Amino acid sequence: MSSFKEKSVLVLGGSRGIGAAIVRRFAADGAKVSFTYSGSADAARDLASETGSTAFQTDSSDRDAVIARVRDSGPLDVLIVNAGVAIFGDALDQDPDAIDRLFRINVQSPYHASVEAARKMPQGGRIIVIGSVNGDRMPVPGLAAYALSKSALQGMARGLARDFGPRGITINIVQPGPIDTEMNPEDGPMKDLMHSFMAIKRHGRAEEVAGMVAWLAGPEAGFVTGAMHTIDGGFGA
Ligand code: NDP
Repeated sequence: MSSFKEKSVLVLGGSRGIGAAIVRRFAADGAKVSFTYSGSADAARDLASETGSTAFQTDSSDRDAVIARVRDSGPLDVLIVNAGVAIFGDALDQDPDAIDRLFRINVQSPYHASVEAARKMPQGGRIIVIGSVNGDRMPVPGLAAYALSKSALQGMARGLARDFGPRGITINIVQPGPIDTEMNPEDGPMKDLMHSFMAIKRHGRAEEVAGMVAWLAGPEAGFVTGAMHTIDGGFGA
C-alpha cells in the first residue's frame, strides 16, 4: 500500500460507486481527501463522516463550477476525475440535450479540471481520469455517445501528458470493464451478455479499480504518463 500522508487529493464524483471506493482508499492511506457530488447528498454526507473527508456539491456538467472547485481546493497533489454518466438506447431516439450534457460531464469537465489542477500542482503531481474499456471496444449497440466520450479521454491524456510532463505532472486514464455499481449492477439484466465477453466471468469490484488508481498516484508510477490502464477481466482482450 502506498502512503499518501499529508497529500491533498480531490475526487470529482466521489459520492457513490467507484468514486466512493477511491475516496475510501486515499483516506485509509492517510490523504487529506475532498470530493464532489451532484445528486447524492445523503451518500456524500455519510461518506464524508465515515472517512473524515470533505464533500462539496459541484455539478460536473457545469464547467465553471468545476474549474472553481479545483481552483478553490488549493494546490492538489492528486486529482481524480471519476464523475461520469451513461445513456443507453437507440442513437436515433436519444435527446440531443442529454447527449450534450453527457459530453460536458464525461469530456469537457475532465479536460478543464485537469488543466486547472495543473496550474498549481507541485512536481510529482498526478492526474487520473476514469475512462472505460468502451473507449477501446464497444461490442453492443446503444452506447455510442458513451464510447465516444471515453475514447476522447485517450487523446486528452496523450496531449496533456506532453503539456504537463515538463512540470513533473503525470496524467493517465484508468479504463474499467464491468464494475459492480449502481451504473452497472452485477445482478442486472446485462450480466450474462457482459460476462460472455470476458475472460474472468464476474464484475469487478470498485475497490479493485481504486487499487489501480492508488498505484498510479503513488511514487512507483512517476514514469507512467499519457497511458491507458485497462482493468476489465479481459473484456477487451
Ligand atoms: P455510479 O453511477 O455508480 O456513480 C457515479 C458517480 O459520479 C456518483 O458519485 C455521482 O454522484 C457522480 N456524478 C455523476 N454525475 C455527476 C455530476 N453531474 N456532477 C458530479 N458528480 C456526478 O457510476 P460508477 O461508479 O459505476 O462509474 C464511475 C466512473 O467509472 C464513470 O466515469 C463511469 O463511466 C466509469 N466506468 C464505470 C464502469 C462500470 O461498469 N461501473 C465501467 C467503466 C467505466 P451523484 O450521485 O452525487 O450525482
